[in-house]
Amino acid sequence: MARYRDANCKLCRREGEKLFLKGARCYTEKCAVERRQYPPGQHGQNIRRKISPYGLQLREKQKIRRNYGILEKQFRNYFKKADRKTGITGETLLQMLETRLDNLVYRLGFAPSRKSARQLVKHRHIAVDGRIVNVPSYGVRPNQVIKVKDKSKNLDLVHSALKEVGRGDEIPWLRLNKAALEGELLEVPKRTDIPVTFNEQLVVELYSK
Ligand code: SF4
Repeated sequence: MARYRDANCKLCRREGEKLFLKGARCYTEKCAVERRQYPPGQHGQNIRRKISPYGLQLREKQKIRRNYGILEKQFRNYFKKADRKTGITGETLLQMLETRLDNLVYRLGFAPSRKSARQLVKHRHIAVDGRIVNVPSYGVRPNQVIKVKDKSKNLDLVHSALKEVGRGDEIPWLRLNKAALEGELLEVPKRTDIPVTFNEQLVVELYSK
């Protein structure tokens, strides 16, 4: 599966806000958004200020896609699936992204970023309901238990991520057992409980043209 390989900080600088793609570094003064508040590239500092409605929709889509580390084609497929389901399309889209296995490993605090979480999953360190799952996009269902497998429990990355961030504590739709390095998705989160500030309606408008 293809994936983005260039510098993560460029993505944040292009969107003009922190997407927290690098873990602990994002909370320090080394963050590139703090140091250079203009888009990357030769003409980054000359960029036009006025943005069209289409531009707004496009930027919001890029922001969401980059936040979850998903390429365009897969993101569009998520949208198509969300659009076919009953309910509010934007909310369903975010719910599908939030219940991806790599995102939940990150939200539970087992990895400092979604990129590291993806790697943990791909390297077979994570089990769902007792079975190893190495597919980052795996859709976790309510009441399924996500666990760092026994042989991987001494991984420094997991322990430092839990110590430094501890995100699982703050999310009402997740249960975290830090001692056992396991967590559970209690329910599919409602939009109001998803801790992101995106305007997903702009994505719906963009793809519905
Ligand atoms: Fe984005 Fe983190 Fe890089 Fe800052 S340090 S620009 S938040 S990835």
